[in-house]
Amino acid sequence: MTSRSYLDFNATAPTRPEVIDAVAEAMREGGNASSVHADGRAARTRVEKARQHVAALVGADPTGVIFTGSGTEANNQALRSDNIERLIVSAIEHESVLQARSDAVICPVSPEGLVDLDALMRLLAESDAPTMVSIMLANNETGILQPIPEAVRLAHDAGALFHCDAVQAAGKIPVDTRALGVDSLALSAHKIGGPQGVGALICKTPSTMPRFVHGGGQESGLRAGTENVPGIVGYGVAAESALAGLNEFGALAELRDDLESKVLAIEPTARIFGKDLDRLPNTSKFATKGLTSEVQVMGLDLDGASISAGSACSAGRVETPYVLAAMGVPDELGLCAVRVSLGWTTTSQDVHGFITAWQKLHDRKLSQG
Ligand code: PLP
Repeated sequence: MTSRSYLDFNATAPTRPEVIDAVAEAMREGGNASSVHADGRAARTRVEKARQHVAALVGADPTGVIFTGSGTEANNQALRSDNIERLIVSAIEHESVLQARSDAVICPVSPEGLVDLDALMRLLAESDAPTMVSIMLANNETGILQPIPEAVRLAHDAGALFHCDAVQAAGKIPVDTRALGVDSLALSAHKIGGPQGVGALICKTPSTMPRFVHGGGQESGLRAGTENVPGIVGYGVAAESALAGLNEFGALAELRDDLESKVLAIEPTARIFGKDLDRLPNTSKFATKGLTSEVQVMGLDLDGASISAGSACSAGRVETPYVLAAMGVPDELGLCAVRVSLGWTTTSQDVHGFITAWQKLHDRKLSQG
């Protein structure tokens, strides 16, 4: 490879140039969005414009958008409510959901990686305590889309609330909060080319959402702390671009499928997770026995391609990623899984370069027997 190929969009996307310009401009203009003078009012106008773009990205009402410091914070705010006595989460949630409460009840997934709705129904029936269910829209490692409307129906029929982590889905596939029927939705700017350290919690009824960060009346009293105006402005621009580029993003499935068919041509026994399921168009998770994740990530890095073994947060661990473990994938395969996630900078040359480098690693494995 002559130049680097960034194939790790699910860890973080490159910041879009228009976002960098907008953030720089917002920083130059300054102003505290809570100040009553003209500078403050201008900053407020910029924040409210961003709120509209973020709401539009997920078909929500702008009054239900609370800007947060990350997707992690948005999940924590939704899930750590004192009003909720019982939390049911799927086994493949991001750690910001799995670890939001130490007493969360885990709902299993099928070997294919889909949440087990029968198990969810049984768990819901076990208790009358005020319950919240949290299931993600798209898994960060496999890209597999979860049956959210069906799960929401089960939760609501049982009188439970439903939170959805849509951090990986929003901006990559069409997301309609109202059609999903969820009570709240977590988002993050940096997965779609916005700044890192900005997120949003979308609430159906903001008045019932408990505060999480205390100490000020910002965000309608729902998230204290001076608004990160440049970050929020950047998020708004990223949301606008992502919404306009949804069709193009969808077309990445072709490049992804091409990459997978070339991997299979080199190694017909490779297992591609979620291949026949609805999944994000940009994500491929696959494993080949005997070719460890570590060897692939490091070998490809040396050859100029950035991919990952699992979610960035779990990098450095030598164990089957928990998402694959929850799907019953044995260690001999789980320890050999890599995630390639494409985005708007990805070209067929990137795929070609990846395959050339991957074939080298594969051939070396064969020659070492
Ligand atoms: N949820 C999912 C599914 C994610 O993939 C991530 C980030 O990797 C998060 C939540 C956390 O988002 P943030 O990085 O903004 O804290």
